[in-house]
Amino acid sequence: MMSLRWQDAEPGDYAVIGNPIDHSKSPQIHQAAYQFHSLPLTYERFCVPLEEFSLALLHLTGLGYKGLNVTLPLKEAAFKWCKVVSPEAEAVGVLNTVNLLTKEGINTDIPAFISTLNQEGIPQGAPLMILGAGGSAQALILSLAKEGYTVSAWNRTKSRLDQLADASPFPFTVLDDPVPPPGVACIVNATSASLAGESLPLDWDSLSSDVLAYDLAYGKPLPFLESASDRGLKTRDGRQMLVEQGALAFEWWLGKLAPRSDMLKATYEHPGTHS
Ligand code: NAP
Repeated sequence: MMSLRWQDAEPGDYAVIGNPIDHSKSPQIHQAAYQFHSLPLTYERFCVPLEEFSLALLHLTGLGYKGLNVTLPLKEAAFKWCKVVSPEAEAVGVLNTVNLLTKEGINTDIPAFISTLNQEGIPQGAPLMILGAGGSAQALILSLAKEGYTVSAWNRTKSRLDQLADASPFPFTVLDDPVPPPGVACIVNATSASLAGESLPLDWDSLSSDVLAYDLAYGKPLPFLESASDRGLKTRDGRQMLVEQGALAFEWWLGKLAPRSDMLKATYEHPGTHS
């Protein structure tokens, strides 16, 4: 499926916007849900540069669009554009799901991630180690700390985490070195290193086999999960989170239960690497 410039959009119902957006799987995921419920709705994808964000939303609203999923680099702009935001979005200052008609916005990435932690039996409050300090890592660190998890974080460029910790109302530990703290239940790779085929300098030796190694990326061999698997750790990639964030957006917009297994199946049928 080709993605279009927002200026070339035709009338429609829902879409994902971002830049770049060519590899987004959101159209497949949402179209699978429309098919399941026999809903005569469209879901497109549009490339929207950051500086054209407000103009693009005005244009798409005029064409009859009701809701948008928003991915990088637009999640902060979407937060600022919305008049009403959910508590999850408020805590992290970014969101990924917008109702164009009411100007409401929610963040479904965060509950989607927490839902996958729950599925893996990681209880609220468990010690977690987050790797990274980009958009996804920052949102996870703040929301997990807010939810009462014991969060330690490491990033290649430590100053980014120091700044986040200084500004955060929710305490978390900034690690000097990529050494997992004792008793950690889950290590989350929220860096983009795996997508570039790069390994992380994590000290794996202290980890026991009941620790979960979770990479937010998916869709290609991930060095982080390969290293974890070699050492006998449990592993999970980001595909389930991708489906869950889409399912929660679908349910918020349409008030119908999302067919998660059909949506998951759709992610295997077409190439793509992100939401
Ligand atoms: P981002 O904002 O570009 O941040 C990149 C982060 O990765 C930075 O902390 C950077 O460190 C670090 N990094 C990059 N290469 C590295 C390397 N070789 N060694 C160590 N650190 C490295 O990225 P993002 O948008 O937050 O996305 C992060 C990952 O999450 C991506 O893999 C993305 O596909 C995935 N994701 C998945 C989902 C899902 O639904 N499954 C949703 C969102 C994101 P510096 O600060 O030192 O540069």
